[in-house]
Amino acid sequence: MEINFRTKRVLVTGAGRGIGRELAKRLASSGAEVVAVSRSKEGLDSLSAEVNTIKTIAVDLADWDATRAAILSAGPIDCLVNNAAHACLESFLDIKPESFDKSFAVNVRAVINVSQVVVEDMIKRKSGGSIVNISSQASQAALADHTVYCATKGALDMVSRVMALELGPHNIRVNCVNPTVVLTDMGKLGWSHPEKAGPMLTKIPLGRFAEVHEVVDAVVYLLSDKSSMISGVTLPIDGGFLAT
Ligand code: NDP
Repeated sequence: MEINFRTKRVLVTGAGRGIGRELAKRLASSGAEVVAVSRSKEGLDSLSAEVNTIKTIAVDLADWDATRAAILSAGPIDCLVNNAAHACLESFLDIKPESFDKSFAVNVRAVINVSQVVVEDMIKRKSGGSIVNISSQASQAALADHTVYCATKGALDMVSRVMALELGPHNIRVNCVNPTVVLTDMGKLGWSHPEKAGPMLTKIPLGRFAEVHEVVDAVVYLLSDKSSMISGVTLPIDGGFLAT
């Protein structure tokens, strides 16, 4: 299946590292004009050094007003990927209000904030559009020490469904992908130790974690016109984990 994004402007959050970075590069190589948003300037500088057509914006997505101004400055956007997230591992009894607030500010509130700015302009231009939110298998399965992270991703699934419901009449599609563990910096935080990885791997029918390109492939499909009748789904990329 050939997919290209020529003439499309695509905004990816959390594009400095990990899945977002590989996604930004894939989209650029498929012809998109990519706007990469992330918190630290270093990751963005090295991304634009690697692919000089990628535009970058450094902003802390936990800051509502700064984020709004930054996204407005990006100009019209055809496709949006809300990928940035904060993961903080704490056992239930150790949860701190700071980690709760920060996780919800980045993983849920910023998705609403960024999407509002992008969608208001899509509606004004009557352009339609496609949005993919990067959720997780953690939205639908209990994972030890992940109470807050699981809660943010469960909330993100439902935010996405309501967005699909309200924005469909404007020809704007909204979908989620829900990957299993991917050994990025975030994935290594929770799952690099064999004591944690082993039991998780036994619950994945395919017997392995996901690779970054496997997440990128699914996101590219859902962003593209090849999925023109798909909206409101939460697509596991989990080797069957959620089916068991
Ligand atoms: P990484 O930790 O490797 O990268 C996260 C990116 O998000 C970084 O570029 C980071 O910027 C950016 N970011 C984090 N907080 C903010 C903020 N406050 N403002 C702006 N940018 C921010 O994560 P992954 O690539 O692994 O994860 C990408 C997505 O995939 C996330 O939504 C995650 O929840 C989801 N996911 C990941 C899984 C995994 O196992 N890795 C499994 C399932 C889902 P900076 O470099 O400045 O810190």
